[in-house]
Amino acid sequence: KLKFTHYFKKGGKEKIMKLKWSQYNIYIPINGSRKLFIFNTLTRGIASIDIEQDFDFQKRPEEYGEKDSIEKLTNLGMVVDYNIDEELLFRYFFNKWRYDKTHRGFIISLTSLCNFSCSYCYESYKDKSNRNQMMTELNWTKLFKFLEKSVSEESVKSLNIAFFGGEPLLNYEVVLKAAQDLRELAVLGVKVDTTIITNGSLLNKERAKEMSNYIDSIQFTLDGIPSDHDLRRPYKNGQGSFKDVFKNLVNSVKLFKEVFLRINVDEDNYGVIPELIIYLKKYGLAEKISLIGFSLPPFLK
Ligand code: SF4
Repeated sequence: KLKFTHYFKKGGKEKIMKLKWSQYNIYIPINGSRKLFIFNTLTRGIASIDIEQDFDFQKRPEEYGEKDSIEKLTNLGMVVDYNIDEELLFRYFFNKWRYDKTHRGFIISLTSLCNFSCSYCYESYKDKSNRNQMMTELNWTKLFKFLEKSVSEESVKSLNIAFFGGEPLLNYEVVLKAAQDLRELAVLGVKVDTTIITNGSLLNKERAKEMSNYIDSIQFTLDGIPSDHDLRRPYKNGQGSFKDVFKNLVNSVKLFKEVFLRINVDEDNYGVIPELIIYLKKYGLAEKISLIGFSLPPFLK
């Protein structure tokens, strides 16, 4: 255990600092074990720590831990300088991102149609009166011109594009054209980062190979082990989709720079999520997926 004041390196120099627990920490005890998860909602840092019986976060951080552990928690934003106003820090991060003119981000919906019928979906493919359900190549060309103009006229250094739907791969030719066109912006000195958010069912080997040349990352969704996923995310004809999505996920981790997995969690499926993680581990995917994100299904947001 350390004394109230704590020595650690800041800006290359050893400094004495008084510390506190971040107000953005969420503490999650693991039943029946001496472990506890900490999640910081500001930095999105996550850590698991071993706790002693009397570990209750009432005392300041430096009173509990070893210097190394405190440093690690500091790097994750879970332990902060005692004098920091974290609400101000939050506003600083938020406004810096909001008013940053060097960066632009767009979410582009290429279709509102989908081949799935997820139990919680709100997309307008259910609305038969909507006639503008597919982005045409002509409309993409107009949008690309707008993007090109806005990045060349302003001081934009990086551009993030997320292709979205419905199921964007139902409009495969336009997605591919869009991803290829966006690469051209590199000649203007703009760093372009593209991602596609897909249900994963239409991404066969050939398409994955072709797309991975132009798209940096891809996001799949699985809502549980096969039986649970199939109940929540079936094809429109009622057939289960897990088998196809999983096969395509296995291919994609070999091809794309980054693969993300979204898991929609609610009161119906939270109990089966650990089984899904074990399933992913069994097939060697847990380590290959760059990020597993847990979200509320769209209608619960
Ligand atoms: S895959 Fe997405 S768009 Fe399609 S039905 Fe499911 S939630 Fe809706």
